[in-house]
Amino acid sequence: MDYLKKFSIPMSQPDITESEREAVNSVLRTTYLSMGPYLNEFENSLREFTGSAHAIAVSSGTAGLHLSVRAAGWGDNDWVITSPFSFVSSTNVLLYERITPIFVDVDPMTGNIDPQQVEQAVHDLTFSRAAAQKWLPPKGVSDSGQLKGMIAIDVFGQPADFDALRTITDPFQLKVIEDSCEALGAEYKNRKAGTLGDFGVFAFYPNKQITTGEGGLVITNHDEDADKIRAMRNQGRAPGDTWLEHTYLGYNYRMDELSAALGAAQMKRIQELMAARQRVADWYRAELSSVPGITCPVVAPTTTRSSWFVYVIRLDRGIDRKSLSEKLEALGIPVRPYFSPIHFQPYIREKFGYQKGRFPVTEDLGERGLALPFSGKMTEEQVQEIASALRQIL
Ligand SMILES: *Cc1c(COP(=O)(O)O)cnc(C)c1O
Repeated sequence: MDYLKKFSIPMSQPDITESEREAVNSVLRTTYLSMGPYLNEFENSLREFTGSAHAIAVSSGTAGLHLSVRAAGWGDNDWVITSPFSFVSSTNVLLYERITPIFVDVDPMTGNIDPQQVEQAVHDLTFSRAAAQKWLPPKGVSDSGQLKGMIAIDVFGQPADFDALRTITDPFQLKVIEDSCEALGAEYKNRKAGTLGDFGVFAFYPNKQITTGEGGLVITNHDEDADKIRAMRNQGRAPGDTWLEHTYLGYNYRMDELSAALGAAQMKRIQELMAARQRVADWYRAELSSVPGITCPVVAPTTTRSSWFVYVIRLDRGIDRKSLSEKLEALGIPVRPYFSPIHFQPYIREKFGYQKGRFPVTEDLGERGLALPFSGKMTEEQVQEIASALRQIL
C-alpha cells in the first residue's frame, strides 16, 4: 500500500492551519460533539458560497449521493444514466437501491459524460425497447425498467456540460444529480459547480479542496427534498419527531461537530486554498510543457473557473505506464493510475458482464491517465523535481 512506502513528496496532503486546530479544540471544550453550532455555521457557509437554498452536511460524499438518490425517488429496476469514468461511489449509490446504472461514455478532452451520447441514450431508452438494448448492461438486468434520471460527475474538478445535458433531460422530467465531489468552487459559465442539477453533492475527504476528515454535503433548491434529506441523514426523524420517533426509513449519515468545525474553518480559507491549488497547477503546466510524451489537463471553454482536485496527465499511446510509475516511485515520487473504469471493477463485471471495448473513451483515458502528486501545499521545487524526473525517464 502507498502509505507504507516512503515517498519524499506526498500524493496529497490537507492544508490545515492553527485556525482549524483551534476550532476543533473548541468543540472538545463543549458538550456538543454532534448537531451543534458549527454544523449550522458550516452549512450556512456552503449555502452562501453556492447560493443554494439548502445545504445539508453528511458523513461522506457517498452518503450525500445516496440521500440524493433516495430523495430523487429512484428505486428498484429504474434506469439512471451515469458514466463509468468516475470514482465508484457515483455508481454504488445506484446499486444500493437496486437501480440499474446505464453507462454512457465520456468526452475525451474532459472525461465528463458526453452530451451527444446522452441524447442518443435518452431517446433510445425512452422510445424503443429494441434500441434500449444497446445501452443496457449485457446481463443481470430486467429490460422492463424505465429511465428516471442521471448522475453526472464533474471529473477532476471540471463541471460537466450541464446546459447541453439539461436541454436533453429536462423535457423528459428526468431528475439530475451533480456529483461535484471533485469540484467544490469550480464555475461553469460563471455558475457554481454543484448548482447545475436538482441536487449537488460535495465531499471532504482529506485530498479534496477542503476537508472535514470524512464528510460530505448536499445542496438543493427543492424545499421538500431538503427536508427529506435532513430527516434521512438523522435516522428518519422528521421536524417535530422526538429522538425515538422516526417518520421515514433513515440512516445515521450525520456529520459530527468536530468535522463541521474543521470544515467551517476551512471554508473561511476557501479562496486561499483554491488559489494555492491553482498556483501548483500553473507550475505543473509550465514545467511539463517541455516534457515529451505527455499531455497536460485541458480546461474546457465552459469552465470559467477551475477548481483543481487532482493533476492527471495523459501519456501518449505506447508509453508503458507501469514501468514509468515504478521508475517514478523509485525516485520517491508516488503516482496513481486514474480512474480505473467502473465497468471493469470485479463486482460490476461479474454482475453486468462487461467486456473490454464497450466504453472505448473511458477505457483509453483509464489506460493513459496518471495522477501526479498534488496539493496546495506543494512547492515550486517539488513540481520541478517531478518534471525533471519525468523528463529524464521519458
Ligand atoms: C471523492 C468522491 C466521492 C465521495 O467520496 P467519499 O469518500 O464518500 O467522501 C464521490 N464521487 C467522486 C467522483 C469523488 O471523487
